[in-house]
Amino acid sequence: MSDRNTKREIKKLLDEIERLKKLAYRDELTGLYNRHGLKNTLAKFVGEIRKSKETKERRESVFIKDIAIVVFDIDDFKKLNDTYGHPAGDEVLRFFADIIGKNIRDIDLGARWGGEEILVALVGANEEDVYRVADRIKDDVKKSRFEFKGEEARFTVSGGVSKFDETKDLEENIEKADKALYEAKRSGKNKIIKFSDL
Ligand code: GH3
Ligand code: MG
Ligand code: MG
Repeated sequence: MSDRNTKREIKKLLDEIERLKKLAYRDELTGLYNRHGLKNTLAKFVGEIRKSKETKERRESVFIKDIAIVVFDIDDFKKLNDTYGHPAGDEVLRFFADIIGKNIRDIDLGARWGGEEILVALVGANEEDVYRVADRIKDDVKKSRFEFKGEEARFTVSGGVSKFDETKDLEENIEKADKALYEAKRSGKNKIIKFSDL
């Protein structure tokens, strides 16, 4: 095979790997990351932060110093499914994912963590930053009118926010955000709560 052909073949293979990686990393319904995609992508950022804290020189050279997360859960989603049907619920999930996409940057990560639980990790952000973004997303959801088969359906979301502690694993970090989310639900829904305020 000529050099040119070999290069072309390699390029084709690399493109195929990229395509498959995208498929393996993404949730089909919403286009957000799936669990696997989030874990792998986030691990890269967390690795950077861990390394950056090893030495002073590194500390000064690395630009990503913090990550903060929010776990969202759609309010009364069961009722929404019961009232409008499961396909409407799916549409709502897509709609919510679009609102998130409009509020975060390319570098940030949005992932479908569970059925209707969506995790967002903001890179270079502290708890206060992610609180502000999450609160805006919550307000955008509340303001928007979602239409399904000519019927107008509205919904709200709640969220729990926490700073990402790079010395702990992902599960422990999510647990903190989950505790804040639980409090948001308990105290009336349609709100965002910070773990540090518990
Ligand atoms: P809460 O306000 O406390 O969150 O009440 P909820 O009704 O939303 O309760 P919960 O979060 O436990 O509900 C989860 C529901 O989400 C149950 C399930 O039917 C629905 N659900 C989970 N995944 C999907 C999905 O992919 N599509 C649709 N349409 N519904 C889903
Ligand atoms: Mg839930
Ligand atoms: Mg819910």
